[in-house]
Amino acid sequence: MNGWDTPSHDYDLIHQRIEVGNFDWDSTSFDGRVITTLVAKRDGFDAVRLDMERKLEVRAVTGRASEKLRYDRPGDTLVVRLPHAVAWGDTVRFTVAYHGVITQGRGLYFFKEEPGRAHRPQQVYSGGGTDGNPRWIPTWAAPDDKATWDLVATVPARLTVVSNGRLVSDRRTGTSRVVHWAQEKPASTYLISLAAAPFVRIADRGPVPLEYYVYREDRALARPLFGVTADMIRVYARLTGVPFPWNKYAQVTVADFIGGMENVSATTLVDWLPDARAYRDRPWYRQSLIPHELAHQWFGNLVTAENWANYWLNEGMAEFMPGQYWGATLGRHAEEDYYLDEYREYLLKDARRRTPLATWNSNNVYPKGALVLWMLQKELGREPFWAAMNRYLTGHAYGNATSDDLRQAVLEATGRSLPWFWSQWIYQAGYPEFSVASRYDSAASALVLTVRQTQRDTATADSTGIRFSVPQAFRALIAIRVGTATGDVVARVTIDRREQVVRVEGVRTAPTMVSFDDENAVVKTLDFPQPTAWLATLLERHPDLWQRSWAIDQLASRAGDTLAARALARAALEADYDATRARAAGALRRFPAELALPALTRAVTDSSARVREAAVAALSEVGGQQAGELARRAWAGDSSYEVRAAALGAMARLDPAGARAVVREGLRTPSYRDVIQSAAISAVVDRPDSGLVADVEAIAGQQPLAVYGLAALTARGDGAARAALARLLEDRRRWVREWAREATGME
Ligand SMILES: [Zn+2]
Repeated sequence: MNGWDTPSHDYDLIHQRIEVGNFDWDSTSFDGRVITTLVAKRDGFDAVRLDMERKLEVRAVTGRASEKLRYDRPGDTLVVRLPHAVAWGDTVRFTVAYHGVITQGRGLYFFKEEPGRAHRPQQVYSGGGTDGNPRWIPTWAAPDDKATWDLVATVPARLTVVSNGRLVSDRRTGTSRVVHWAQEKPASTYLISLAAAPFVRIADRGPVPLEYYVYREDRALARPLFGVTADMIRVYARLTGVPFPWNKYAQVTVADFIGGMENVSATTLVDWLPDARAYRDRPWYRQSLIPHELAHQWFGNLVTAENWANYWLNEGMAEFMPGQYWGATLGRHAEEDYYLDEYREYLLKDARRRTPLATWNSNNVYPKGALVLWMLQKELGREPFWAAMNRYLTGHAYGNATSDDLRQAVLEATGRSLPWFWSQWIYQAGYPEFSVASRYDSAASALVLTVRQTQRDTATADSTGIRFSVPQAFRALIAIRVGTATGDVVARVTIDRREQVVRVEGVRTAPTMVSFDDENAVVKTLDFPQPTAWLATLLERHPDLWQRSWAIDQLASRAGDTLAARALARAALEADYDATRARAAGALRRFPAELALPALTRAVTDSSARVREAAVAALSEVGGQQAGELARRAWAGDSSYEVRAAALGAMARLDPAGARAVVREGLRTPSYRDVIQSAAISAVVDRPDSGLVADVEAIAGQQPLAVYGLAALTARGDGAARAALARLLEDRRRWVREWAREATGME
């Protein structure tokens, strides 16, 4: 499928009844039977083309009267030949019976229960992302033709089956169980899902029925984690003005998953449920994953990108919404904090490959999408923004949209056309890279700024000849705040040239601070050399987290400057939000011990784990006996997994020989997502110690990093690691052999 365009097809998919059963975990195979109903969209319609992976073995295609139909299998499609041509508007129905042998992960994932392997019950689930479903069912795979469906799965009686829509029936017949789900509102077929495992079902109350399906052993962890769902649904419905669009919302956890997939009304999620202690570290799972996948139930599932070149409409919106949730719930700093992460991620992605948002294979649909929507919200104002979103959602409900439909929704709801915004942020690539120089003209009471945009249009054409452009000059409406001893002066200016001079008038005394793009209205980088005193004032006074972060990064490079150290130390201890304290503490790592230690000593007792973690990590670079003692205390007594992991890393770095016992203890210490164990494995690999190889081998069954660590040591000539790896290649546990083969490059 060519992702650039919406592919043409000559029918309207109406309904599919999908029956699957005979799942075999040894051969990773199953049998399928799919009854497809569609309406012809041309006269003389005599053949139906569905997407269906070649490997699926068609056994028979039959028509309404069970008569056999001819079919072909060109490429990954199934073309059903109708017995006679039908006319525009006629309904066609046929049944495809088939057998599927699945390569793990291509459409379905099969997991057998394995003796000795923790947290991995038997299961089968669909995990296709946007292109996986034709690998296990014949369907129209492109997102532009929505349909309803039934899913009927026959599985071993001990498994619970979760799918989209309404549970119609769940019947046990001997050793098997037949479960029937019905998706009764139209949705794109990439959102069809199946998950079967020995789940427990936890019902919760919300605006719609909420269900959490987790392994029995995770039962106690489910409610503390997913309990936020009801509130998130309420906030999203309030912001968008659109109630949750589906009859229920299930969240289902499975093994080895890519993160999450927003299957309609039945999101599939990885089985990394945080324990009580893990919440001290703001787990990504609750912070981002749950609200992201939930947002898709509106953005992506109710209104779906018409083709994958507009994929950002799904992913950008879903990535945008958690920031809105945290902002609405916890306030402005939580909101800014969320988008600051998106900003940093976007810059990294853009540095690797520069693409626009709205294009096939864009690499930035998540972070840039979220940031562009945040900019749009600032440009329009919150109420007009949500009015536009409401228009977008209601105008295309249960249908599709392109980027231009969003532009139109904004225009209709707010009257704002904003052609420059759509052009530079959606269809062109890059962001403004500002280089600013300032001069205070005391005679004229003006601060004179020379603002240059230095981004370069260096993109080259790709293999298809497509070349993206980067604007020579972005348009940006920004505020410039100049602090003085007698108060602030704020100027609002439009930046729209490659180079321009901006005069801020009425600056009667010398500036004490300059904040460029005071409201962080524009995604940008900023090169603006300033005196340390200005940066210190900006960091102390400015409420905006981007401004603070920028000031910290400038100060961080002035390691010989005691004023810079004092500013960072004050921020590390006194800033009113932990992201600022953490970044400031981290920046102290480059400063001499006598400047950094007093602040870091106190920062390791901060109430926020992320500040303590940053302080402990910084201590490992500052060095010295006191740093080592503080790290030891954090290791012994901190309540956060991340802080303890950082402390272990710090001790191993500061005193490799003395830390041996701690590394050994770390290898055996359980923690959420194995962060402590992983830090210990990294410590062994970074400072090879044959005496610890046996300890690493002892945990080889617990996580692949242990096995990879042994492979890394082997590559450096460690004989003990080589022998351990050889044993693991013959281990009685299948998964350990598999990791060992992967680690040694034998796969
Ligand atoms: Zn998503």
